[in-house]
Amino acid sequence: MLRRRKKFLQEGYNCVLCQDGIEETVEHLFFDCPTSVSRWFALGITWSANANIHQKIYIAKQGFGQPFFMEIFLIGAWCIWKERNGLIFDNKVPCIATWKTSFKSEVADHLIRIKQNLHPSISQWLHAL
Ligand SMILES: [Zn+2]
Repeated sequence: MLRRRKKFLQEGYNCVLCQDGIEETVEHLFFDCPTSVSRWFALGITWSANANIHQKIYIAKQGFGQPFFMEIFLIGAWCIWKERNGLIFDNKVPCIATWKTSFKSEVADHLIRIKQNLHPSISQWLHAL
């Protein structure tokens, strides 16, 4: 645990989730990092290679097949950010099962902000995860 934190501090701006020595840019952290890719894949979201961020989101939204893609995308990104911060500041080892539980909890907490008519389909989608 301590070694991991120390390693992060020595590497400066590199991604801590994959520790592949890659700079932590927005694009890497949320779209290209193998840790993030596995989280998105668990939600049924894959990103197009050779596309900019706007194109990736647009293409993924078209393929998602549900009317609440942006809600899921924003909460998923928030949970990736929290997982990253948990590792850096609290030495919490990334775990997809824990991430998924956190994601489901965040979606439930944010239902109040999501259109009422989408609640049944979101709940059904969440149960199927
Ligand atoms: Zn990474």
